[in-house]
Amino acid sequence: MTYPYDVTIIGGGPAGSTLGSLLRKHDPSIRVLILERERFPREHVGESQLPPIGRVLEEMGCWEKVEAAGFPIKIGATFRWGRTPDLWDFEFVTTSEVEGVTRPGTFEGVRRRTAFQVDRALYDQILLDHAAELGCEVRQETRVTEVLREGDRVIGLRMDDPASSLVTSSLYIDASGGAGTLRRAMGVEVDAPSQLRNIAVWDYWEDAEWAVEIGVGGTRVQVLSLDYGWVWFIPLGPTKASVGLVVPADYYKTSGEAPEALYRRALSEEPRVRYLLRNASREETLRATKDWSYVSQRIVGENWALVGESAGFADPILAAGMTLAQLGARELAYTILEARRGQHETDWLFRTYEETQQRRIRQHIRFANYWYTANGCFTDLKEFTREIAREEGLDLDAENAFRWLGTGGFATDNLINPSVGVYSLDSIKRITDRMGEGQSSWEINRFNRFDLALEGAERRDVAGYHDGHVVKCPCYVRDGRVLPEMGVYNVVVQAIRKDGRAESLVHNLGSFFTRVGADPNTMVDHALQALEAMVVEGWVRGSLDSKGQRIHRETPTETPITHRNRDAVPS
Ligand SMILES: Cc1cc2nc3c(=O)[nH]c(=O)nc-3n(C[C@H](O)[C@H](O)[C@H](O)COP(=O)(O)OP(=O)(O)OC[C@H]3O[C@@H](n4cnc5c(N)ncnc54)[C@H](O)[C@@H]3O)c2cc1C
Repeated sequence: MTYPYDVTIIGGGPAGSTLGSLLRKHDPSIRVLILERERFPREHVGESQLPPIGRVLEEMGCWEKVEAAGFPIKIGATFRWGRTPDLWDFEFVTTSEVEGVTRPGTFEGVRRRTAFQVDRALYDQILLDHAAELGCEVRQETRVTEVLREGDRVIGLRMDDPASSLVTSSLYIDASGGAGTLRRAMGVEVDAPSQLRNIAVWDYWEDAEWAVEIGVGGTRVQVLSLDYGWVWFIPLGPTKASVGLVVPADYYKTSGEAPEALYRRALSEEPRVRYLLRNASREETLRATKDWSYVSQRIVGENWALVGESAGFADPILAAGMTLAQLGARELAYTILEARRGQHETDWLFRTYEETQQRRIRQHIRFANYWYTANGCFTDLKEFTREIAREEGLDLDAENAFRWLGTGGFATDNLINPSVGVYSLDSIKRITDRMGEGQSSWEINRFNRFDLALEGAERRDVAGYHDGHVVKCPCYVRDGRVLPEMGVYNVVVQAIRKDGRAESLVHNLGSFFTRVGADPNTMVDHALQALEAMVVEGWVRGSLDSKGQRIHRETPTETPITHRNRDAVPS
């Protein structure tokens, strides 16, 4: 059967326009339709990005368009979060690296490691226009009102415009964000973690002061906790700022306060935000949302798939929503393109896309849980970490469960480097240290011998996404966890097979990297991060012999990446 479109996308937000753009970029013959219910520019919450989004924008061919809009450069965040009320910074790059930057810039050097804070009305329009320029047919003010189905197959979409005919397509994609238009129509249930039941209220301000300006338009967002929630302060341009409050839904209910009163009270009780807003004026249109944390039980079906927030979302505390939506859209574009080329089985391609997205969202939910439990300013939620660990099949006491969560119970999201999606394991450690767990957070430091623990693991190919292609990456898979048999992980596996004693292991890793012409110091460090992830995820068993030295991998407490805040603004 032939259809007028190869791919029809519901929703023209970042996920929909990234998917459309990358499909057309890598295959200009593919017929893509994007249906968007609003007329852009339209407002949207979620403004603070993470650096990996830059590579996706660059691949789409629109990083320079985003840069030309003059959004602030995000070099990191200032937090009041953890066991003390001290302010601390988490930075993607050092301040001095950004001081010399001129704008508009190009996507190279230090700019590859920074991100943007975007006014979503403008940003989403740039991306949607770009998708149209690349040849996607974009219909705005076109709401999908009905998804026609036969079993698990979509057979057409109806729009709110009675004059428009039924849209039919080979493949249907739900990029409709929290609306989940197709997800709901297909009866897909979602898993929602009980711990992250929060609500958010926010508004936009004019003439708010920035806490700091670094170079031309560089700054840090502010994430400041109160006893009952936290406040975000995100400059979106020279004069506009987004200022929001997140509180647990239970607190909101028991406080008896209306959202407006709660918002005003929080801003007046947060001294730093109060200072930054002292000469600013508010739009006075309070927006609110709740229940955003979930993961869809299914992400692909017979001729449909979910992408971006319709597939799931963790929590604003990680500022990862847009980045994950666009990374996921890139992976879905590659999946569709590869299925059309017919070199890999379609089933495998879509199944691995589904597993990758679900694993990543679950990892982010766990990491968000960690942020909340690690915050001494919130109530002590340590017991919750037991529940989270139990969901992952681990029976740990509260103390160990908290350690497991903080030391990377989420570390093998990326097949190349230990990370949780967009946070490298090293940055997770720095955050963990900052939150008060100190040096104890490196599991590998407890042992002087390491053995592989691969019992019961299945060997499977997992998808890797490179240059418009999906490649098969051999992995061990067990209980939803993945150990790649490639990259630095594989080097560690081979080194342990040779000799698992700590001293020999470090020595052999160093010799290997020297032999292949890599910088042994940097690479051994990467390998130890991978080893840490493997220990935490149960792929490697550590033990302590009577003789032999232990490993000493430490995260400095104050690094150029994480340090005590030095802004002139009063805390
Ligand atoms: C309180 C809060 C704070 C957040 N803060 C951040 C942050 O700081 N950083 C960050 O990266 N992320 C943040 N996020 C998450 C971020 O907003 C989302 O992850 C991101 O917008 C997802 O992009 P998307 O393209 O999947 O969906 P969306 O951006 O929601 O786009 C979906 C599009 O689909 C359209 N649509 C919906 N239904 C239909 C229909 N039936 N027919 C046609 N079109 C339809 C909508 O109009 C919309 O344009 C936050 C989320 C919340 C709730």
